[in-house]
Amino acid sequence: DRPTPARTRFAPSPTGYLHIGSLRTVLFSWLWARHTGGQFLLRIEDTDRKRFVEGAEEQLTSSLQAIGLMWDEGPIVGGPHAPYKQSERLEIYQAHAQALIDKGVAYRSYATGDEIAAINAEREARGEPKLLVFRNLPGIDDAAREAAGADYNVRLSLKTTGKTVVQDLVRGEIVFDNAALKMPDPVLLKTDGFPTYALAAMVDDHLMGITHVLRADEWIPTWPIHHQIYEAFGWEQPVWVHVPQVLGSDGKKLSKRHGDTSVTEYIDLGFVPEAIINYLALIGWSYDDKTEFMTLEELIERFDLNRIRPSGGVFDRDKLLHFNGVY
Ligand code: GLU
Repeated sequence: DRPTPARTRFAPSPTGYLHIGSLRTVLFSWLWARHTGGQFLLRIEDTDRKRFVEGAEEQLTSSLQAIGLMWDEGPIVGGPHAPYKQSERLEIYQAHAQALIDKGVAYRSYATGDEIAAINAEREARGEPKLLVFRNLPGIDDAAREAAGADYNVRLSLKTTGKTVVQDLVRGEIVFDNAALKMPDPVLLKTDGFPTYALAAMVDDHLMGITHVLRADEWIPTWPIHHQIYEAFGWEQPVWVHVPQVLGSDGKKLSKRHGDTSVTEYIDLGFVPEAIINYLALIGWSYDDKTEFMTLEELIERFDLNRIRPSGGVFDRDKLLHFNGVY
């Protein structure tokens, strides 16, 4: 008996190449969608214009095509599957930010970055902690600025009492004490009207019906923000799956030195897509702790999110070479 059809996504920021490390997260998402007979979506998170890299989107889509992990849907219904792009969805995020303001769980903050820095400097001089809340600040008349049509950020009011209790498929329950978070109220919408990751990704994951959010475990510290955004909207949480990092064979963060280079470079070097996929599937996941070689069909048949290991997986270039020799 199959689990119900899942909808998963890969949501890269167009800031560079598709690396071996992130390909493994993509692969798990893709395999889970295929295993359950669901859909895998590609969404380009291009709302941070400072980090935008020309040509990166094409690099990402052509890498996915080259490795054979295709996505099933895009904004053009029935048409060619161009990926979703957040820069084409700005009104959606703006409307959702407004909805949270209307609910009283988000607010417009008129303080500029310089003003916040100045207030924080004074606070530091007095031995006080940095600002966490950005409205009704000393010397800043929010109402007058609003009347004058000044620029503003929209920020979420983070909870400062109670607990944020999150469930991760790999690690189980994690309890965050809200009073101990001491995080600044996060920006949802920037002064240019563009959303941050926190708002855009949560809105899209919800609207696109994503059932399982697979993403790197480096997001766990800021997870309470994302969880609270779902709560603020009154939406049911997706199944969260924080995928443990891929490490180098020395146990350190995977880098170019370990072979964490672009996927297309591996293919150009003559590595076979099926061999790359087979090997990557076994980093942090296993079917039965012994089977090594599996066809794509077998991987789809056997893949199970519940068997992702909580410890970081290791990428070993020599092992990839070994797999490649078999294909
Ligand atoms: N755009 C984010 C990134 O590239 C996506 C994280 C996620 O998968 O939610 O890091």
